[in-house]
Amino acid sequence: MAKLLPKSKHQALCPHCDLVVDMPSLNANQKAQCPRCETTLSTLWSEPFKRASTYSLAALFMLVLSNLFSFVTLNVAGLSSDISLVSILDIMVEQRYDLLAFLFMVFVQILPAFCMFALFCISSRANLPKAVKIFLVRWLIRLKHWCMVEIFLVGVLVSFVKLISYGQVGVGPSFIAFCAYCVLHVRAFQYADKKWLWDLVESQPKIRLLEPGKTGISQGVKSCGCCGAILENASIECPRCYAHSFVRKPQSIQITMALLIGSIVLYLPANLLPIMNTSAFGNSIDSTIMAGVILLINEGALPIALIIFIASVLVPSLKMIAIAWLCWCTKTKKVLNGHRMMQVYEVVEFVGRWSMVDVFVIAVLVGLVSFGNLMAVFPARGVIFFAFVVIVTMIASQFFDPRLMWDRLEKNKRAKVN
Ligand SMILES: [Zn+2]
Ligand SMILES: [Zn+2]
Repeated sequence: MAKLLPKSKHQALCPHCDLVVDMPSLNANQKAQCPRCETTLSTLWSEPFKRASTYSLAALFMLVLSNLFSFVTLNVAGLSSDISLVSILDIMVEQRYDLLAFLFMVFVQILPAFCMFALFCISSRANLPKAVKIFLVRWLIRLKHWCMVEIFLVGVLVSFVKLISYGQVGVGPSFIAFCAYCVLHVRAFQYADKKWLWDLVESQPKIRLLEPGKTGISQGVKSCGCCGAILENASIECPRCYAHSFVRKPQSIQITMALLIGSIVLYLPANLLPIMNTSAFGNSIDSTIMAGVILLINEGALPIALIIFIASVLVPSLKMIAIAWLCWCTKTKKVLNGHRMMQVYEVVEFVGRWSMVDVFVIAVLVGLVSFGNLMAVFPARGVIFFAFVVIVTMIASQFFDPRLMWDRLEKNKRAKVN
């Protein structure tokens, strides 16, 4: 995909570094990037309406199919266990882990279904009132990161490795439908470009011509946090999406740090308490995250042990260190390399949600390994703490305003000159 030089008079304000950019007119399959922080400002796909609506509708259809039939089967010593996606929920509720059932339902079913529905409505250019369109696009963009369909699929595949040691594993028709749903869902999201979606609702409000290559804050303008429109600093409500916007996210560092401390507090019980209890032939064994990794190594499943170790131990710890480092650099005068900080910020944004893999592994094991006194897997308290570590760190990184790093960089440059 080609990087384009700005040529036309359409302007954008980079949401990550606050730089005013002259937007080029894009051809199909091209994207425009911010020259300072390399954030993608817009992507234009060929036939975006047709593709987005087709993929999102097909994804919804596959989601329905993946809930109707058998998902996975397990045979242990002549006994057979057969689960559908809905029965995973039933079993978790039965065992009074309603919160875990709720998280599974929200992240794997409700939010992805809503996003696909919203994308279909907007991209098929359905004749909807403007208020409905605003509602759909606003929440589609906000909830995109909270859809964990592909993470659940990885969780299912990891749980297969554990299940093979118990007995014979088979996949049902719903599993095939779910794999197709996962691919279609990821493809549909590729077309959910923020600028394109908001332009479909209404074109950007008109504003005076700004000087490109300079920051918005120095020219008295701000970027709408919801739709990305350029607004005068004095305006309170965005005329396009009606959201309240700020020059910089208020109390960004303080809120991010408070949430980070909260996640560190939750991280201790998440690691010290057992996350899962396995009972087999009258013996009951509690296992913590690390004990699960060691067990996988002993069983010879080294690649899976590595996935769980990276997702459940390495990623959350490094993410917390990275968020603390970003806040510290932004607050003090230590910003030396804006690009490196931006890369760290983007990695934190991207990888954080993948830590949910272990939570989904437990959900599948609990649903499938349920043979009464012979063999059963139960969730334990640690898994709830762990799920909240992931959620709280995700919220923390969303409260962090990366424009503050670039502000600090500018200040440092000015201080050097003086
Ligand atoms: Zn930028
Ligand atoms: Zn707006």
